[in-house]
Amino acid sequence: MLTSVELSGRELGMIKLMADFFVEKPELTAKIESYTTAYYALMTTYSENFGIPTEDAWKTFEELEKKLDGAKDIRVEAPSPIKKWYSLSTEEINMIRVLIDYFSENPKMTPTSSFIANRSESIIEAYKWFFGTTEGNGEYARESFNNLMEKIQAATSIKLDTLAPVVATPNPYEAVLQLLQLAAKKLNLDPGLHEMLKRPMRTLIVNIPITMDDGSIQVFTGYRVQYNDLLGPTKGGIRYHPELTLDEVIALSAWMTFKTAVTGLPLGGGKGGIRCNPKEMSQNELERLTRGYARAMVRFIGPHRDVPAPDVYTDAQTMAWIMDEYSEMVGYNVFGVVTGKPVHVGGSLGRNEATSRGVMYTVIEAAEHLGIKLKGSTVAVQGYGNVGYHAARLLNEIGCKIIAVSDSKGGIYNPKGFDPMKALEHKNRTGSVVDFEDCKNITNEELLEVECDILVPSALENQITKANADKIKAKIVAEGANGPTTPEADEILFKNGIFVIPDILANSGGVIVSYFEQVQNQMNYYWPEDEVREKLKNTITKAFKDVLAISQQYNVNMRVAAYMSAVKRVTDAMLTRKHKTVSPIPEPKAAVQSK
Ligand code: NAD
Repeated sequence: MLTSVELSGRELGMIKLMADFFVEKPELTAKIESYTTAYYALMTTYSENFGIPTEDAWKTFEELEKKLDGAKDIRVEAPSPIKKWYSLSTEEINMIRVLIDYFSENPKMTPTSSFIANRSESIIEAYKWFFGTTEGNGEYARESFNNLMEKIQAATSIKLDTLAPVVATPNPYEAVLQLLQLAAKKLNLDPGLHEMLKRPMRTLIVNIPITMDDGSIQVFTGYRVQYNDLLGPTKGGIRYHPELTLDEVIALSAWMTFKTAVTGLPLGGGKGGIRCNPKEMSQNELERLTRGYARAMVRFIGPHRDVPAPDVYTDAQTMAWIMDEYSEMVGYNVFGVVTGKPVHVGGSLGRNEATSRGVMYTVIEAAEHLGIKLKGSTVAVQGYGNVGYHAARLLNEIGCKIIAVSDSKGGIYNPKGFDPMKALEHKNRTGSVVDFEDCKNITNEELLEVECDILVPSALENQITKANADKIKAKIVAEGANGPTTPEADEILFKNGIFVIPDILANSGGVIVSYFEQVQNQMNYYWPEDEVREKLKNTITKAFKDVLAISQQYNVNMRVAAYMSAVKRVTDAMLTRKHKTVSPIPEPKAAVQSK
């Protein structure tokens, strides 16, 4: 399928550097001429200019090559004050392909292999080689090439529509399958049931055209995946992210299936999202997009079918828009179509901090099990959004010392501890926790490796990998985020004696209170916050104890134990409801007895 992709900062930097090579910047020319191949010149110069290892430069180039190869449309954003997006002509897109090939490790354009001689001319030659002769003596091609170089050099951003598959690396869906495999083996699961659990039950892909504030129309791709509904209506958040992929949504929906199961909720698992960059969109644009998504989903979601909730870069306001649009469509108020709503329009007290409160309850249980005194123990939190901030605040309230936190722009560290609320005020004022008083700025990578008792990854997937798992010093890792640890890293943490409270358990507080919100919506009767907290504590503590017992009984880590518990519940439901997937063979009618 056609996917809209915005080039990353690194990719944009690389393509600009390629353009610079061709406009004969004197400082670059001397440098390039000292290398034997264009590929080597590009990789070395790029890695020096951007201060990154050459290995990363190759990867950036490969990724760029893949995206541009499948590109059907490329748009460049002109800088301020124009700030407009321009589509490149077919000729210009082809020129970019030639440019990429010119710098590739094994360029196909043999007639122009001597790149030092005359770079612009060699590109025109290569263009002819690939795409046939240009008009006249090549003046036209030369002109369009020069125009293209100017556009690329000035571009503040480049977007493209590509047919190449866009997959995150590592792919979180692969991680789900690996974990499922481990649990299936331990449970000696029937291969057919295992097959069923590997795939989502239903997937919807929608393309939503939106009028932007500048009057242009942009089309955004949205997903909703209902992974499994054997235990009840599917449930799971909606994520807005520029790099969202279908596989990521599938992985998240599988995690939701196992999360609702491990906590014993009468719900299945689903997830959704839109590939968009909410940071670059106005509130009005986000509202139009969200309402468009709700309209596209109207036959697919509902209180008894599939109930979305907030996730990364969506919030209570997003849910209120979906609830309102859905209610408009069906003709009456349906508060229960989404959870995580503002309290005055059907939300539950305590939902906002529920995920983090659940993290806190599981940390209390883990600390007790390990004999760690929580008062005075040190905490590092990656990600300072809904989950990260409230986790820091709540752990601080029970006596832990917050020594490091981070957001997408970087992190802060003070071994003596700091006030998490003041750090949030600083973030709200400046846009980031970075540069907070009395703290040293650190990178997100450094944050994960700080000396601390409890580490709470609360940002995105794949943060603890086999590359850094050995450097994690925490005694407890409580996964606020979904999928922050890769399966390879998991083994390393287990081997190093680090107690991991897996995502499907640690961050299940959000879905538990979402479930309470659904129940309250259906009753149209709302509970006081103390009652919500008490019920949350009981539910998540019981789930923790169940998982710990399995991990001790089978001598497996907490993650495998959590999957075993969840898989067993889902497959037990499957076997009880067998008709769901096994078509019943009609009994032959008994022959009518003649009297
Ligand atoms: P959010 O949008 O409120 O916050 C995300 C935070 O992560 C922001 O502070 C952002 O700056 C930071 N971030 C983004 N990229 C980062 C990076 N590369 N390094 C460090 N920080 C980065 O989102 P949220 O609701 O807090 O969700 C965070 C995680 O928790 C996600 O994995 C989500 O799926 C999971 N989760 C959320 C809930 C919930 O109820 N909100 C429930 C369960 C799980």
